[in-house]
Amino acid sequence: MIKTQAYAAYRADEPLKPFHFDYPAIKPNEVAIDILYCGICHSDVHSSRNEWGGANYPMVPGHEVLGRVREVGGDVKKFHVGDIVGVGCLVGSCQQCSECADGLEQYCDNQIFTYNSHSERFNRVTYGGYATHIVVDEHFVLSIPEGMDLAKTAPLLCAGITVYSPLRHWNVGPQHRIGIVGLGGLGHVAVKIARAMGAHVVVFTTSESKAKEAMLLGAHEVVFSKDRVSMEGHQNSLNFILNTVAAPHDIDPYLLLLKRDGVIVFVGLPSENHPSPYIGNLIFKRRMMAGSLIGGIKETQEMLNFCAEHDITADVEIISMDYVNQAYDRVVSNEVKYRFVIDMSTLKSAQ
Ligand code: NAP
Ligand code: ZN
Repeated sequence: MIKTQAYAAYRADEPLKPFHFDYPAIKPNEVAIDILYCGICHSDVHSSRNEWGGANYPMVPGHEVLGRVREVGGDVKKFHVGDIVGVGCLVGSCQQCSECADGLEQYCDNQIFTYNSHSERFNRVTYGGYATHIVVDEHFVLSIPEGMDLAKTAPLLCAGITVYSPLRHWNVGPQHRIGIVGLGGLGHVAVKIARAMGAHVVVFTTSESKAKEAMLLGAHEVVFSKDRVSMEGHQNSLNFILNTVAAPHDIDPYLLLLKRDGVIVFVGLPSENHPSPYIGNLIFKRRMMAGSLIGGIKETQEMLNFCAEHDITADVEIISMDYVNQAYDRVVSNEVKYRFVIDMSTLKSAQ
């Protein structure tokens, strides 16, 4: 049994508070992890506040989990005690369907998310990374390449893979001019990864103050998206757009940025839907709209190796566990550059 300290949301409209639970003795296929760092994704805020519906309380959020292996089950092959490992948004899937066979566990109809998913194994919902420990099936544990800054690597487990997967799926490379919409947790990692893939990167931001930083992060151009004239100046210029925005907004000005056959991919999932775009903007240039959900386990490992090779991590503000509620407010008011990461060694003192 592993006694675990955590922070949990108890209701949608209340701050997160301390919470305790136990993990049972691990099974032969499982890895028990001492959590060192956990990123705060905007999805944690949407989920804790039940903005997407389906919240189960108490909810222990956190799916950018980075830690050290404390114990491995008898059948575990890939990991040893002391290894530095990661856990992202997924901790289970059926392992039998075509999605799982293709390494796309995120699209399995029976996927188990790291928190707020029903777990037969634990006979409760899953609890995530705002905790001292987590126990996970070996298949869903990632190896962290040596030499990476651990706190800055944690956000790659969700933000990193969520942007890497569509960039890879649509084969973004040197032949492409692409747009990243929203320079937040996902967006700033997307800029770094897309630049490393060789694309010409244009950032679209609602925050004029982020323009200079966007260039330092690797953008070739920055457009202040509230400026209609600048937006119109970029019409018909992009092959691909990744939209990471966490709030409803008008899609049409972004569709118009695409060239013929260009695609806009949504990863941001606002609690209220965007207004429907004008379908003529799709028809007249054969433009496409798509969505993408995190990434599979194999691809997540590929992303971590790619980031290690290209020296890519997130820009983070490290916080203590008891700052989480202020951090949530600052995520919503768009006042973080660019990802909060909780130092889990502060959890005991925050109880
Ligand atoms: P974040 O750090 O809050 O970044 C979102 C960015 O969107 C902000 O930095 C801001 O960028 C822009 N923005 C915010 N409010 C806006 C508004 N009213 N109008 C226009 N732009 C606005 O959030 P995140 O953690 O990157 O997550 C982004 C979204 O992706 C969330 O909805 C999250 O739930 C979702 N998500 C999806 C997946 C997936 O698998 N599809 C995975 C993880 C997260 P500027 O200041 O540059 O405008
Ligand atoms: Zn996330």
